[in-house]
Formats: sequence, structure tokens, C-alpha cells
Amino acid sequence: MRIDVKDIVFAYKEKRILDGVSFSLESGKSYALMGKNGSGKTTLFKLMLGILEAKSGEILADGRRLTSPDGRVFSYIPQNTNTLSGYECIDVALMALASTLPVLSAPDKTSECNAKKLFEKLGIAKLGYERIENVSGGERALVLFARAILQNASFLMLDEPTANLDYENQISIHEKLDELKREDKGILFSTHNPSEALEFADEILILDDRKLIFSGGREEAYEEKVFERLYEGKIKVMGLNDGGKNRYVCLRA
Ligand code: ADP
Repeated sequence: MRIDVKDIVFAYKEKRILDGVSFSLESGKSYALMGKNGSGKTTLFKLMLGILEAKSGEILADGRRLTSPDGRVFSYIPQNTNTLSGYECIDVALMALASTLPVLSAPDKTSECNAKKLFEKLGIAKLGYERIENVSGGERALVLFARAILQNASFLMLDEPTANLDYENQISIHEKLDELKREDKGILFSTHNPSEALEFADEILILDDRKLIFSGGREEAYEEKVFERLYEGKIKVMGLNDGGKNRYVCLRA
């Protein structure tokens, strides 16, 4: 599947947030969405999900204009998941299937079994029957990740998916995302960490001052010094050769 975001203009009342933002995403690839706090990343996710409506511009999925939320196109893991309570973690994950089930019916045993297997794979099997409000922020993020996977949409959008996770779980999330990519899912994740974008994304998108100021691969980002420009020279990206493979690290300047 291909997503085309075309010339999106958006404002909260009079406050212009996005001004002519255009880019394309393809399934089977991962994209890191970056930009300073308040640059409009979450707003862009909400526009793509159909939760917010653009003043002008359009979002197309394989050429079809998206006018309302479509769970087959996008699944979403929000940044703030503290509002969920009263459910066992396994049921939170199974909510992913709600839109595909007949009214008032519950997920069957096979779905529950698949959810349990996924919990095992993500290392959160012990959380299945814990109440969501009783688990840590990082564990909650993994439960929400399981829910997004079960939804089986073409694109996964993740708002700072690794922000609450220990380093092992950060790597494990990206390994799982790589696996999903190989199954031809598209991945769009936001991050504030240039190293994470350079290490895990095929392409990087950067929002600044209402515009998309960069879209391209890591080598291009490195050569054009996009992070140095975004953070006004306070950081520097260094390229290194790791056994014949080009890799990049981000350091304080
Ligand atoms: P980011 O995710 O990049 O931090 P956001 O998309 O959350 O940025 O916010 C972009 C801007 O829009 C910020 O200035 C924020 O204060 C403002 N904003 C976000 N949500 C609302 C809202 N519901 N009403 C008015 N302004 C908002």
C-alpha cells in the first residue's frame, strides 16, 4: 500500500500548525518522524488517522481519499496511554478486533490464543490477566503495541514508542517492527532521538516551523547535516564504518 499526504494545511482555531505538508509512505518500509516539541507530529498522526480534519489538502491510501478513520489502513499507538483502566491487559489487546466483530460478540478462543502467543513473543506473557492500570508505563506501551499488531492494519503509526522503555525493550520493539516490515507493513514512528532514527528508519521525515524540512534516507540526512541544522549546531552526527556497514551516532557538539 502507498500513502500520499498531499499539501496538508492545519490550524487549531487561528493557530497554524502545518502549512503545506506533503510526503509519501510505502508499505514494507519504516519512517521516523522527527521535530521539536510542539512541531505538530501528534497532530499529523491524528490527521492521518482521520481524528482531525485538515483545512486543505488530502490523504490518499492507494489513491483513495481517506475521509474517516479506517482501521485497515492505520493502527496507532498513542504517546499517552494513562487514560486506559478497568481492563485486563489481554482484553486491551483484543480490543483491536472490535471493529471486525459483529455487534455484541466477543473475540473467540483462537483470537485469545493468538493474543497470548504475541504476549509471549513480546516478553509480557505474565501481564495477560493483570489490570492495565496496575502495570508500568513501559509494560503498558508493550500491551498497546500488541493491540496494534493484532489490528493487522497496513501501516502502524507509533508516537514515541520507545520513550518509556528500557534499552532491551527498545531494541525488542524495533526488532518486532523490522519483522512487521518484512511482512510488508509500513511503519511510521516518532522519536526525539536522532540515533534511533538513524539506526532503525529507512527514511527520516522532519517537521519544523510548520513545514516538512527534510525527507530522505540516513546518508542524505547525514550529508545535509539536517540534525545539526534542526538543533542549531548543538549536536553533531558522526558516521562510522562498522565492519563495512555505514552507521551513524549522534553526539553533543
Ligand atoms: P508534537 O507532537 O510535535 O509535540 P503537537 O502536534 O502535539 O506537537 O502540537 C503542535 C502544536 O499544537 C503545539 O503548539 C500544541 O500546543 C498545539 N496543540 C496541540 N493540541 C491542541 C489542541 N487540541 N488545541 C490547541 N492547540 C493544540
